[in-house]
Amino acid sequence: PTLPYDDQNIFAKILRGEIPCTKVYEDEWAFAFLDINPQAPEHILVVPKGPYVSWDDFSLTASAEEIAGFIRAVGKIAREKGLVEPGYRAIANIGPNSGQLVPHLHVHICGGRPLGRMIP
Ligand code: 5GP
Repeated sequence: PTLPYDDQNIFAKILRGEIPCTKVYEDEWAFAFLDINPQAPEHILVVPKGPYVSWDDFSLTASAEEIAGFIRAVGKIAREKGLVEPGYRAIANIGPNSGQLVPHLHVHICGGRPLGRMIP
């Protein structure tokens, strides 16, 4: 089972404007900002505005509207950044084995260089 949502997590504070970030996009469903420790020339984090720990509770309990809005935002940001033609990677870490550090769902958009294969 997914942990209860901790509204003191760092991305909740970023969403509330309590901690600064370099914002790249915002709409009704999603908020996006640059990763503080980029792993690629383009490394954007996209978070849903609702209180979801990870993909697990999001996929289970978010409304169809929230899910669609969030996924559309991820695609839109990548298109607006010109990442589609060269290609990019969108990933979410879920739980301990993934190394997820921040307990608010975030999709990493990474691009701007060849990323190598993750699944050989
Ligand atoms: P995770 O390992 O949970 O999938 O990824 C967390 C990501 O958040 C890491 O890539 C890390 O660099 C980034 N991060 C952690 N703290 C902050 C912060 O305060 N601001 C920003 N912009 N990114 C952060």
